Amino acid sequence: MADPKYKRVVLKISGEGLCGEDRFGIDGDELGRIAREIKTVGDLGVELAVVVGAGNIVRGAVVAKDSDVEEVTGHYMGMLATVINALAIQDTLESIGVQTRVQSAIGMDRVCEKFIRRRAIRHLEKGRVVIFAAGTGNPFVTTDTCAALRASEVQADAVLKATQVDGVYDADPKTSPTAKLYEHLSFDEAIHKRLRVMDVSAFDLCQQNGIPVIVFNLKHPGNMAAVVRGERIGTLVS
Ligand code: UDP
Repeated sequence: MADPKYKRVVLKISGEGLCGEDRFGIDGDELGRIAREIKTVGDLGVELAVVVGAGNIVRGAVVAKDSDVEEVTGHYMGMLATVINALAIQDTLESIGVQTRVQSAIGMDRVCEKFIRRRAIRHLEKGRVVIFAAGTGNPFVTTDTCAALRASEVQADAVLKATQVDGVYDADPKTSPTAKLYEHLSFDEAIHKRLRVMDVSAFDLCQQNGIPVIVFNLKHPGNMAAVVRGERIGTLVS
């Protein structure tokens, strides 16, 4: 079989990807499915790091809008929630024999390692899946920006942005049946068309560091491995 196109990737999973139909919390079946997909990528010899969001538990801006919690506090709550998701992904991966490490941007030494770039790279070289938790450690940004930042830091070949639809469309495919899927977009197009796929800061970082982003559907079994093999799946932003 041909070598995978990408040797080291950062996979971004939204909190939404971890919950079932009720769109909140963590669903064991979803976790299991994601873990098995990740394992197939590792089995190809690809080094993989995961950045996980927390939209299934809490988003800073939403908490602040709905309560008297300050927005900054809400963002810290969101970052802490990503640690909960990271631990869930860790144990699920380990239950199927995948070695992992969780590294948090906010010190939490009873539950996981701190983010240390050189150490993260060493784990990847040893074939461990590194799960980056607590986002960037800074409020007012999202875990998409974290994925772009960590990918730049560990010199990943690509960011794999997992979504619930097949890629980037010119309109919302859930409400517009005629929405058109883009196979390829330049970073400038992705930013200027304001397609709301990733934050501008995330695209900006990937563009500066020459890291392509592949937006693909996490729900189709086999997609993740197909993306790293270089098959035309989803939307390539480069
Ligand atoms: N967050 C933050 N800094 C970061 C990453 C995340 O403040 O570097 C907070 C922010 O409030 C965000 C929440 O954590 O809304 C959850 O992350 P995100 O919205 O990216 O989760 P996703 O939509 O991917 O599930």
